[in-house]
Amino acid sequence: EAKRHGRGRAVRYAPGMIEAVAERHALERDLRLALADHQFHLVFQPIMTLSNDAIVGYEALIRWQHPTRGFVSPVSFIPMAEETGLIMPIGAWVLNEACRRATLWPAQQHVAVNVSAVQLRSPKLLAHITSALADSGLPPHRLEIELTETALVEDGPQVAHTLSALRQLGLKIAMDDFGTGYSSLAHLRDLPLDRIKIDRSFVSAALHDKHSMAVVKAITQMGSDMGIVTIAEGVEDADQLALLRSLGCDAVQGYLIGRPERQMNYCPPAAISTHVN
Ligand code: C2E
Ligand code: MG
Ligand code: MG
Ligand code: MG
Repeated sequence: EAKRHGRGRAVRYAPGMIEAVAERHALERDLRLALADHQFHLVFQPIMTLSNDAIVGYEALIRWQHPTRGFVSPVSFIPMAEETGLIMPIGAWVLNEACRRATLWPAQQHVAVNVSAVQLRSPKLLAHITSALADSGLPPHRLEIELTETALVEDGPQVAHTLSALRQLGLKIAMDDFGTGYSSLAHLRDLPLDRIKIDRSFVSAALHDKHSMAVVKAITQMGSDMGIVTIAEGVEDADQLALLRSLGCDAVQGYLIGRPERQMNYCPPAAISTHVN
């Protein structure tokens, strides 16, 4: 590499680059230890249906509480987990924990779990899902899998096989962050999808940008014509909620409805009633 720059010329690194590489390695090393050291936990964000404003389920979101760095965002460590293969054991833990927690909720509520492209490509994913369901006792119809467009459009034989097996099990499949990836309308037509999640970037811009508004309109219309439930992400204020209602969007999720929470002292209604005696 240095030779290409000619003899006697040192390769220059941009200031901070070596530090950034070292930092990355340190974080990667820590990520390897995090699972065994119980540094992960899940938070749950409510999803509200607009037909009767009921909470129909929660999305599980992973949190990493690093012993010295504090909170590390999944936006930075999930890609790292994907590159190192650590997403497989971490993803299996998420599935187990999410299913276990969902058994504490009312039976009409589901849990939505994010599954990465790397997991979907792996022949192990199905076993991880079936054992999470079996160990927790959660019925398959109460588990939803959120996949990104990028994961879904990869049409390898493994992906197709896993998707149809998941469908057969009775799970629901959602396309996450819709509109931001590389999906085409042919994929929407051909994939066995139950839900489309409209990306927050369109939802938050819709009221002041007519192109974002057009996209939100088109997705909700298409979803309803195709019999696919549409869920708007990142709903933060009442005006956005009113807009989504008027467009016939099926469900909403966002800080206005509820922030992702730990549910540490969550007490299921059933447990309360059986306790009184
Ligand atoms: P996502 O699946 O699209 O999750 C929604 C993200 O939007 C979450 O960020 C959530 O906290 C945030 N959010 C929800 N409502 C609002 C709102 O009203 N305003 C704003 N500004 N943000 C809102 P989070 O938890 O940081 O997760 C980021 C991404 O990391 C997720 O995007 C998902 O792609 C990934 N991720 C999180 N947990 C997991 C996991 O267990 N497994 C995998 N593979 N990926 C995960
Ligand atoms: Mg998601
Ligand atoms: Mg999303
Ligand atoms: Mg998103």
